[in-house]
Amino acid sequence: MGEAEELKDHCGVFGVFSHPEAANLTYLGLHALQHRGQEAAGIVSSDGQALRVKRAMGHVADAFDADALQRLTGDRAIGHVRYATCGPSELDNAQPLLFNYQRGAMALAHNGNLVNADEIRSELERTGAIFHSSSDTEVIGHLLARERARAPDTTLPDAIGVALRQVAGAFSLLFLTRDQLIGARDPHGFRPLVIGKLRDSYVMASETCALDLIEAEYLCEVEPGEMVILDKGGLTRRRFAESVRGGRCVFEHIYFARPDSLLFGQSVHEVRKRLGRELAKEQPAECDVVIPVPDSGMQAAIGFAEARGVPFDLGLVRSHYVGRTFIEPQQSIRHFGVKLKLSSVTSVLRGKRVVVIDDSLVRGTTSRKIVKMIRAAGATEIHLRISSPPTLFPCYYGIDTPTRQELIASSHTTEEIARYVTADSLGYLSIEGVFRAVGQQRSGYCDACFTGDYLVPIASESTRGANLRVIG
Ligand code: AMP
Repeated sequence: MGEAEELKDHCGVFGVFSHPEAANLTYLGLHALQHRGQEAAGIVSSDGQALRVKRAMGHVADAFDADALQRLTGDRAIGHVRYATCGPSELDNAQPLLFNYQRGAMALAHNGNLVNADEIRSELERTGAIFHSSSDTEVIGHLLARERARAPDTTLPDAIGVALRQVAGAFSLLFLTRDQLIGARDPHGFRPLVIGKLRDSYVMASETCALDLIEAEYLCEVEPGEMVILDKGGLTRRRFAESVRGGRCVFEHIYFARPDSLLFGQSVHEVRKRLGRELAKEQPAECDVVIPVPDSGMQAAIGFAEARGVPFDLGLVRSHYVGRTFIEPQQSIRHFGVKLKLSSVTSVLRGKRVVVIDDSLVRGTTSRKIVKMIRAAGATEIHLRISSPPTLFPCYYGIDTPTRQELIASSHTTEEIARYVTADSLGYLSIEGVFRAVGQQRSGYCDACFTGDYLVPIASESTRGANLRVIG
């Protein structure tokens, strides 16, 4: 996608308990989760005495050097990769957040988004609380500190339970204190969180690809509404909230998770291929070649081509070396933006009827540039196929989508969008097709971005009206 239109990804968390190389493993785990956030990265470690922190803007590879990792001593650590939405991307918002309160120090890493953070924050500020960041995650630290001050005999897991029952929305969380690492997942289970084992150590991560990298064995998911406590006594699981209607994010299957991960118990790669097959059934097109928009349309294009019995080929090449582009080009050279990231392979496209597959169409601006690029390479027909339904509603649960007005499908018909992106035809997969491919009941999932069926009411008008401030 073009840099200017690039939507932002969300966050990833990783934690390891009882391993002599805790910080190094966390660093590796964050590398595997880099696709979940490229804006900032951080690690907090504990040696049982003190917590040490390193956070920096940028990619994992740039955020830490050997010295920094060496200073992160101890046999337990948590880490975070982050993407912010609007507002300045300050280091203050980078995670893990570190709190010093009456009962010691605590670090907190969050993937998701709280929908009542503004209300809680205003109430806390009214009673004297001072916030360091604009992150919704910080309210959890405040609620927790208050609970421990209110009931000094309460245990940390009990206090976390009290805090988490006050917040609403999406959270897959890791807490680290001097002697405990605690993972928790909201009662709907919007975002993934998995547990793994590496010999005598336990690991928790947003995705199984992080376990694979460090050769940890995947054990299971942290269940929605569940807390997993790692300490000297080993691993303890307990519930902090009743389970409610499942809200696993279907868009994780479609776009976010890495293809080599096992997500909500299923191979991301296989589900995406099945999305492509369903798409071929629902939205066939006569063509000579099927090409993906790399990398997001890759698996669905394979499935589509297999189902149609048409050659799959790579008509677009993606440069993996484009970081942020710092120049704001003038109109005359603006079109270089998408070309920096994607280029066309003329030999695959010239004189061909092309089906081009992408996973989603949000604003339509990238698709328009891609279709024009394929046309310029000599394709005779271009049929754009999308392996998900039209994106009609913003996500308030941890994925950064534009406001409703910016979502092209919320105000234009499919024919109008086809005209705008200059494709000969455009076809989306139906929501029923998505769940046939996922192989699960819709009732276990959140598909609000396609249906507007929000499982947790959006409390704040500021949240409803604009992009979210910070996505964890
Ligand atoms: P657009 O030009 O806005 O239609 O962008 C569509 C492209 O954005 C597709 O290639 C998707 O893979 C990608 N995409 C969809 N949702 C997101 C998101 N939340 N963050 C980053 N990229 C996204």
